[in-house]
Formats: sequence, structure tokens, C-alpha cells
Amino acid sequence: MDNALKTDRRLPSPERLLRGRAAVTACPGQDSCGMCAMACGFGALKKPGRLPIVDHDKCIGCGACVKACPRFNMRLVDGSKGPDECEITVKCPLSALPADGETVRALDLSGAALGEGRVVQSYPLPDGRHGMVRFRAERALLPYAAGFLK
Ligand code: SF4
Ligand code: SF4
Repeated sequence: MDNALKTDRRLPSPERLLRGRAAVTACPGQDSCGMCAMACGFGALKKPGRLPIVDHDKCIGCGACVKACPRFNMRLVDGSKGPDECEITVKCPLSALPADGETVRALDLSGAALGEGRVVQSYPLPDGRHGMVRFRAERALLPYAAGFLK
């Protein structure tokens, strides 16, 4: 494992998690395009090599990188919702968009089910093909939840 990969996959610090949403990348570096870094207007996401790297001190959790990634490799994690819960924000195909308040299954990066989540907000993106979903789940899932299933 190279240093970029170790850095790239690092979660925000516990202190940063308490301050609200922050971007996390699961980019495998294959066909990596840099669109996430180009979308970031805060200088918080760079792609100096094969992999994007998030600077969590600069990241404000705006979600532009999540919306921009064509391969669903970016997500937002939020550890500011109390000791028992967290929020995860992901992009999804429009056909998979759940309704606000709907119960979903949180999935890890391999697609394995982790536990239940409840959709806090979902909305379609202007491209007409994708949507954004923010769901709340058990706090212990924060490092692992990277997607959902309706
Ligand atoms: S969430 Fe916003 S500020 Fe943070 S890395 Fe992504 S685009 Fe940049
Ligand atoms: S936009 Fe997505 S696929 Fe492209 S470099 Fe960023 S995380 Fe990787």
C-alpha cells in the first residue's frame, strides 16, 4: 500500500467529525479522473497523483465532490449528531432515490449490509440521472457505511 492510499482513505479525526460533514473518498485510483478535485472550491481536495486526497481541516462538507464523482467514490460523513447516530451522504442513480423518511439498508464498500438507516433528505440532481441521499444510522457504522439499498 502506498502512502497516498493510506492518506486518502483516512477518516476525519474524531475532533473534526464532531464539527459536521466532511468528505471521504474510496477512490480505487483506477480510471481516476480528478473531477472531485476540480469541483472543490475550497482547496480541500487535491489529486497530486493517482488518488485524491482530502484535507479535512479545509473541507466544509459542501458535497460538491460527491456530486461530481462519476463513479460514486465520494461520500460525506457526519459525526456531530450525538453519541448514538451518524449521518452519511452519498450520490445514487435517480432510479434508486428513496423518499425522505424511508428506511434503507446501509451498505459497506463491498455492498454488504451493515444495518438500518433512515433517510433525512433526498433530492434529484440537475443532471436528471442522479440524486443525493443523506441518511442517519447507528454511530458505529460511520467508518464503514458507503452506500444504501432501498
Ligand atoms: S465536501 Fe466540499 S469542501 Fe469538502 S472536499 Fe468535497 S468539495 Fe471540497
Ligand atoms: S471524481 Fe471519483 S473517480 Fe474521479 S478521482 Fe475523484 S473520487 Fe476518483
